[in-house]
Amino acid sequence: MRYAVLSDVHGNLHALEAVLDHLQEVAPDRIVFLGDAVGYGAFPNECVAKIQAVAEVALMGNHDYAVLNPAERTVFNPYAREAIEWTDRQLNPEARQYLAQRPLTATLEPGVCAVHASPHNPLEWLYIFTPAQAQVQFRYVEGWLCFFGHTHLPVVYRETQGPEAEVLLTGEGSLTLNRKERYLINPGSVGQPRDRDPRASFLLVDTDTGHLEIRRLAYPIAQAQEAILRAGLPPFLAERLAIGY
Ligand code: ZN
Repeated sequence: MRYAVLSDVHGNLHALEAVLDHLQEVAPDRIVFLGDAVGYGAFPNECVAKIQAVAEVALMGNHDYAVLNPAERTVFNPYAREAIEWTDRQLNPEARQYLAQRPLTATLEPGVCAVHASPHNPLEWLYIFTPAQAQVQFRYVEGWLCFFGHTHLPVVYRETQGPEAEVLLTGEGSLTLNRKERYLINPGSVGQPRDRDPRASFLLVDTDTGHLEIRRLAYPIAQAQEAILRAGLPPFLAERLAIGY
């Protein structure tokens, strides 16, 4: 099965449209979305509608969850919280209902799973930032492949016998997976990359051949920034798009 795996769109319609246009040519068998359709960007309803239209599987992210559950907002920084409150006021009933129905995890095929934050207790919204943290999370993965998002940092981890997982790939590039090994894979963020590369990030993977590619795509960042400022969202949320952080 050939998958396109997307995560963390965060209301950035310009980035999402660029990636979906690109995927028309790639023509994957399935598009999978790992959560955080909204929060930060100026187009929450439009992004939810597009994801609903194209994604065969779409998960709940922590920002989606906080928009639906006001009590969950206390852990967010002021910029994120302001964007979540703004998104709450914008969201139409259809988008709200779709987000409310998103699952926390999914099995895409036998041995291949997906989660927004971490395989262990997805509602804790833990961040997998380091090889040691990744190695611990393998305990809670049943199959050979697990996709996660949440950090906005593209990375491929391989399970080892030691205390730390091995980092096989970051940023962009391709490699071949081996079914006898186990992997935790983050496609990076479509709508708010944070690895100092402002281009949208996403993943293409063929679970039959093992071929994997993290791909980066330029999109009209200035337009996404302008929309954020026009909406009255914190200017920092526009600025960070240009530096990819
Ligand atoms: Zn996110």
